[in-house]
Amino acid sequence: MKFNTKLLHKGFNGDKETGATVTPIYQVSAFKHESPEKLEKVFNNTAPGFAYTRISNPTVSSFENRITAIENGIGTVACASGMAAVTMSLLNILQSGDEVIAGSGLFGGTIDLFGDLSSFGINTKFAKHITVEDVEPLITDKTKAIFAELIGNPALDIVDIESVASLAHSKGIPLILDSTTATPYLINPFKYGADIVIHSSSKYINGGGNSISGVIVDSGNFKWDYEKYPNLKEYSKYGKFAYLAKLRNGIWRNTGCCLSPMNAFMNSVGLETLGLRMERLCSNSYKLAKFFEDETPLEVNYPGLESSPYYSLAEKYFNGKGGAIVTIRTGSKERAFKLLNNLQIPTIATNIGDTRTLVIHPASTIYIHNTPEQMENAGVYDDTIRISVGIEDIEDLIDDFSQAIKNI
Ligand SMILES: *Cc1c(COP(=O)(O)O)cnc(C)c1O
Repeated sequence: MKFNTKLLHKGFNGDKETGATVTPIYQVSAFKHESPEKLEKVFNNTAPGFAYTRISNPTVSSFENRITAIENGIGTVACASGMAAVTMSLLNILQSGDEVIAGSGLFGGTIDLFGDLSSFGINTKFAKHITVEDVEPLITDKTKAIFAELIGNPALDIVDIESVASLAHSKGIPLILDSTTATPYLINPFKYGADIVIHSSSKYINGGGNSISGVIVDSGNFKWDYEKYPNLKEYSKYGKFAYLAKLRNGIWRNTGCCLSPMNAFMNSVGLETLGLRMERLCSNSYKLAKFFEDETPLEVNYPGLESSPYYSLAEKYFNGKGGAIVTIRTGSKERAFKLLNNLQIPTIATNIGDTRTLVIHPASTIYIHNTPEQMENAGVYDDTIRISVGIEDIEDLIDDFSQAIKNI
């Protein structure tokens, strides 16, 4: 199956009980069973079934199965938010004394999270870029994970997955990728050696900006060394499912960061049009970026532009497409604010992956808690505007940016 067919039909065949064409919202907390013997089996994973929504729920499972299908993984655990997915993907394997290597151009919330983890004895070393040259010198015996954003938000730098994955594997370390901004439309990172993929499905997978959620998908390919990852040992009987089994039966369940059935439903509905939206979003983004480059004095950053230093990686991994985020530099904070105030169509909001175009001044909002150095690494300057391009008619967007720029 090709991508759009898969979105509708792979890992999903309607609701078994009723024939409902989309899995309905099972808005319940608990599931009854005919006998204590049956509930015992369900509880102990020796019979299929549902017991309690914090552990699993039919609407949530249906969403998870569809994500597994389009990401070509062996299984998915859905979380209450993208941040919960980032947190759980790491805490599932880490313990006090361990180190993580992460990109320095990460999403602001993820940078803040690494600060929180240091209180629990988990330390992060930030590589300027996630490249073999920058990462290799940071690896020690304590390094237990390499964490990167495939297309940094908002730095828009692209990771060369193959080379970084092979370095990581040569040291027995998994590569965990946040693929939120790339989406499964642009790439299946497992094909190139990523081990665990997470998404903030609040963004492009939901697509309409109407419910927060996150997913953790496992490739099943990483060979866990149970001496190096002792807290996975108990789950070794699950074979290649050990990582997922520990999440679902351990830390993810115990911290209670489950996805609500309502939000799983909204995200399943959104998922069906991911291919159509991304096609349009990438095309709009390229045209808008080209307009900034050719017809305005503003500096533009978009990996799908032939002039971008990341264009060759965009070609290698995404068929030359560049995703749906564009950043521009206006010259000063004052001019950035003026431009934002002049715009008629885009919405001023802190989100990405909506149907409508969203704009924000990251330095005064998302990055307000970060140091100037962290901001620079993330490609955020005092005059930067981030544009999460929407599906509007591109002529209208260009006309609107054109008038707003003329007026500054
Ligand atoms: C938004 C975002 C997150 C966090 O996701 P939430 O759903 O807002 O918790 C993580 N990583 C990236 C790249 C994001 O854009």
